[in-house]
Amino acid sequence: MSSEKHRLPDLRLIDTHAHLDGPEFEHDLDEVMQRAAVAGVAKVVCMGQDEPTSRAAISLTRRMPAVACAVGIHPHLAAGARTDWMVSLLAEALEDGDRVVAIGEVGLDYHYDFSERSQQRSLFADQLAIAAQHTLPVVIHCRKAYDDLSAILKSGPPLGAGAVVHCFTGSFELGERLIAEHDVYLGIGGAVTFKNARELQEAVKLLPLHRLVLETDCPYMTPVPYRGNRNEPAHVGLTCAAVASLRGMSTQDLAAQTTENALRLFPRLTASSV
Ligand SMILES: [Zn+2]
Repeated sequence: MSSEKHRLPDLRLIDTHAHLDGPEFEHDLDEVMQRAAVAGVAKVVCMGQDEPTSRAAISLTRRMPAVACAVGIHPHLAAGARTDWMVSLLAEALEDGDRVVAIGEVGLDYHYDFSERSQQRSLFADQLAIAAQHTLPVVIHCRKAYDDLSAILKSGPPLGAGAVVHCFTGSFELGERLIAEHDVYLGIGGAVTFKNARELQEAVKLLPLHRLVLETDCPYMTPVPYRGNRNEPAHVGLTCAAVASLRGMSTQDLAAQTTENALRLFPRLTASSV
């Protein structure tokens, strides 16, 4: 094989979870996206967390061909949240051919408990129903709430178009259980590069490759060696390299496989690819 095949830009990565609409990227998003392109990041999926951020994410997709988005309400903001805006926004956006590829990020957060748990649960179920109605996959945020997550996924509205548990940092057993019970994908981010993340590294080594996707969760979760700085989509390559080395694969092969997974998870991303 020629050495040209091994240049970094030949990677075709997808950052499946990012927050690009906030003040952190206000001044240099164009440069950030240029660096992502140079690093081989073909697409970035920007998450909604409420109505304004979901609308901002859709606006970004109109301005930047490499950005797709999800719309949804984060569990932190569940208190008093309504979903009626989401239904009309989706009707418009899907009709206009906007790159809305999922409902997210939604779920349960019992670590911070910023909203009452009962409100988180009912908002999560409502958004699962909206996702199923529109045949959209779901991007799930879950912290210290896996039992309730599983209960809702079992008894609530069915996952009509699949889901990803983003920022997965659990054990092999937990990952295996989530895949077996709910057929989900697992989003692997910068945490896998942390020195103290042995349990996660062990899990990522053994979990089924066809269920793993890569993410930055930027501006948060910055991988080594940039920990402490703002995270950005270009850094998804560092996570790719870390996972590849754990699994004894080339970075190129891991990039190709996880990108194939991301396109399977988000079929509308394929349809809207540049
Ligand atoms: Zn997020």
